[in-house]
Amino acid sequence: MTKYIFVTGGVSSSLGKGLTASSLGRLLKSRGFKVTMCKLDPYINVDPGTMNPGEHGEVFVTDDGGETDLDLGHYERFIDESLNRMSNTTTGSIYSNVIAKERRGDYLGRTVQVIPHVTDEIKERIQRLGSQGSQIVIVEIGGTVGDIEIVPFIEAIRQYRRDAGRNNVCYIHLTLVPYLAPSGEHKTKPTQHSVTELRSRGIQPDVIVCRSDQAISDALKRKISLLCDVPIAAVISAVDAPSIYDIPITLHGEGLDTIVMETLDLAPSDYPIDLSIWESVVSHVHSTTRTLKIGVIGKYVAMPDAYLSVAESIRHAGFDHGAKTEISWIDAEKVPTEVGLDAIRQLDGIVIPGGFGERGVEGMIAAAHIARTNNIPLLGICLGMQVMVVEYARNVLGLTDAHSTEFAPTTSNPVIALMEDQHEIVDMGGTMRLGAYPAMLKEGSVVASLYGSTVVSERHRHRYEFNAKFREVFEKAGLSCSGSSPDGRLVEFVEVPDHSFYVGTQAHPEFKSRPQRPHPLFNGLIGSALNRANGREPRIFDFDAVPENSDQSA
Ligand code: GLN
Repeated sequence: MTKYIFVTGGVSSSLGKGLTASSLGRLLKSRGFKVTMCKLDPYINVDPGTMNPGEHGEVFVTDDGGETDLDLGHYERFIDESLNRMSNTTTGSIYSNVIAKERRGDYLGRTVQVIPHVTDEIKERIQRLGSQGSQIVIVEIGGTVGDIEIVPFIEAIRQYRRDAGRNNVCYIHLTLVPYLAPSGEHKTKPTQHSVTELRSRGIQPDVIVCRSDQAISDALKRKISLLCDVPIAAVISAVDAPSIYDIPITLHGEGLDTIVMETLDLAPSDYPIDLSIWESVVSHVHSTTRTLKIGVIGKYVAMPDAYLSVAESIRHAGFDHGAKTEISWIDAEKVPTEVGLDAIRQLDGIVIPGGFGERGVEGMIAAAHIARTNNIPLLGICLGMQVMVVEYARNVLGLTDAHSTEFAPTTSNPVIALMEDQHEIVDMGGTMRLGAYPAMLKEGSVVASLYGSTVVSERHRHRYEFNAKFREVFEKAGLSCSGSSPDGRLVEFVEVPDHSFYVGTQAHPEFKSRPQRPHPLFNGLIGSALNRANGREPRIFDFDAVPENSDQSA
């Protein structure tokens, strides 16, 4: 029988519901369970693909091309499983399905209502996930209890316990226990109010996870236990952790996995925990000896969550090399005016991440130029790779008006263009190339040596591509097209072999980095940056830090 855990949040947003759910997923996986996770998002957008990353954070892409909430990135990194589009559901997607069914006549003329039609649709999504072979499904409900949009979701998960059976469902509620300096104490009132709100919708939480900046005392736990009607062992103190990767260890210390298992009628002693892999991750996190300054040059830097997976990938590779990576968020629009080229020259390594729209592109091109001509390690991701190609065309091939047709539709040198403009066969239309695609790497290339393989698979999210018409001239001038689609038509990787590290990929490698298995390309970037910072020859072939298990080919 599949067990279901529902995680709701109260008091305030941004309490770390996604990280709490992910950490619990890690603990249960470390007890040998097959775990999957999903996020129910109450907003009306059908998926986050259309949402501004500057406001909502990054769009996380799954292997099957789902454009999903960034919490799925935490799930994948913590439970070390690849999820699919089914792991993210929004109000918009629920309603569009219900309305499509109504138009088809599926409801046989009945009045279509939130209860039962919308709630049934929500429950069906959860159930479908549970029928795919996982023993435990963790469902995070986005937003905060009390939000208008959240009501159908709360109602659906309330009904779920009756459908699935009492002992197959556990409700966890995450709240804030603020410390008020003038009175010198932690306050439980917001927690009480939030639990009351949840109860008014028919849900009595089984476990209350209390976020606070300092550990809450046993006396306070007793108070919450009494007022919110949960056992003391079910009041979990979740203090601010030194790093997100410490959270599973902290929550295990508080007994979160034990109380959840007991609620689900699973005997903890039958499933002993093995946290050795995770403990080794955490010990790497805390044993960094050298600080590297890595610049991320993009247009949404005011909201670093817009590049969440990129930042985590940089950190993972840093842990692996014993290096603390200090990320310098550089607004591409301010290069080279407010952020001068000298500041770029001071960086140990650079990432130019993905993006859409023209804002900041010239700054990215200028930064790529500095990296290339000063031997500074650079990893270009998607738009980042396109920018590297444009820079090379302008400054090495001498095609001064070279550009992507995304930004200069009439350029005479469209080195980056829509696929349908390049080939007679239109196989993408105007839509995006989304999800995992295989690529073949050139034998002996920098990328092949990093991946330890010549066949790799990475996730994509873009419309424009390297224009194959220019391939030969680039290759002759020293920009190697080191990876292509299996049919050879699309350029997937470029590199300058005679450089500390100058690698671009049309894909998004950041979606596949895991703390225990850093991504080879980020490892290459950080390894080269470290060698260079230590005054060693920065050629990536000189370092031996690529982990044995670094083959990310699918
Ligand atoms: N805007 C570019 C394209 O559509 C790059 C997209 C991205 O970086 N994800 O091809």
